Amino acid sequence: MSEHLEEARRDMVERHLKGRGIHDERVLAAMGKLERHRFVDGPMMSRAYEDRALPIGQGQTISQPYIVALMTEALELQGDEKVLEVGTGSGYQAALLSMLCERVFTIERHSELLARARRIFDELGLGNIVSRRGDGSIGWGSEKPFDRIIVTAGAPAVPDSLVRQLALGGRLVLPVGDRREQELKIIDRLSDSTFRGRTVAPCAFVPLLGKEGWTLSGA
Ligand code: SAM
Repeated sequence: MSEHLEEARRDMVERHLKGRGIHDERVLAAMGKLERHRFVDGPMMSRAYEDRALPIGQGQTISQPYIVALMTEALELQGDEKVLEVGTGSGYQAALLSMLCERVFTIERHSELLARARRIFDELGLGNIVSRRGDGSIGWGSEKPFDRIIVTAGAPAVPDSLVRQLALGGRLVLPVGDRREQELKIIDRLSDSTFRGRTVAPCAFVPLLGKEGWTLSGA
């Protein structure tokens, strides 16, 4: 089984990541190493290296590997950054970030998902991840500023709090759109009051729920 999974992971990197234009060697190496099958439940393990989002419980998903790679590459991590992730989910993205930057702060609104992700971080010995339960649409004010912020749920608009928690020269990567389909956006903080945004690709994430996200009822 583990040999088969290793081969499937290599194939994922070659075909779904390199084959579709991901070129950051650090991202490719980390995704070649990190065992995505650990972050999904038993029945999903054999499908862990398919290029698709998979259910992780609570109506949530672990994101598609290509999109994870695209977003991570867009962060342009060098290794010394402090990064905020909104939407811990399975913990896969946070674990990947922890291999590529100095410190990761990650927030999840579902305590069950957070507890499971924390167990995996412990098993993998990932000591540079700090996590908490809460509404990440308003960021993590007591830990600002962040060099990078990544939101792994779809927002109706760019949350003002997140933009304000970016360090000068920092970058925010997030999906913005309606509840079903979004566009991946990159926003750079150039100075105290100057920001530059651009759109990278279409994507489809579960909704970001919270004060600066969608309301639970869908309004
Ligand atoms: N990054 C995750 C991974 O690697 O598995 C995938 C995230 S999943 C697509 C989106 C996650 O965002 C869900 O677990 C959901 O509960 C969480 N979420 C949605 N709104 C949130 C909020 N306001 N604050 C924190 N987490 C939120």
